[in-house]
Amino acid sequence: MANFPDFKTKDEEIAFWESHDSADFWDEMEDIVVDVDLHHNLHHPRLVVLAYLPERCPRCSSELASVTIEYITNKDGQLSIIRDVPAWRCHDIGHEYILEETLDQIERLLSPEPGQPSHPFDMLQVPIFSLQTAS
Ligand SMILES: [Zn+2]
Repeated sequence: MANFPDFKTKDEEIAFWESHDSADFWDEMEDIVVDVDLHHNLHHPRLVVLAYLPERCPRCSSELASVTIEYITNKDGQLSIIRDVPAWRCHDIGHEYILEETLDQIERLLSPEPGQPSHPFDMLQVPIFSLQTAS
């Protein structure tokens, strides 16, 4: 496994990666978690957002089927449910995907412009329990 140099300039770094395979340096790289999903789906925590729909599952290459899911999210203590969300699920393992444009629609519903109230079609009452106070 190779060592990569300390780059002095951004151009130097770009030139280096154009001529080297990053796979040769995996052992040296740090793991980072990038959370780009502002409204995490509690019901489908492993949902992956795609820019476009691939022909087969990007993770296991099995066939993708069109499904409809419920998107449940908790933002600042406010629980919201979005129904009829178009998604794709792979046949073999059940990997789930939604498109970026669908996530954009969800963002717009959950974070409307100031002065433009959201219009939920129904409201639910949610019971809340705690094991600390249960007897
Ligand atoms: Zn899959």
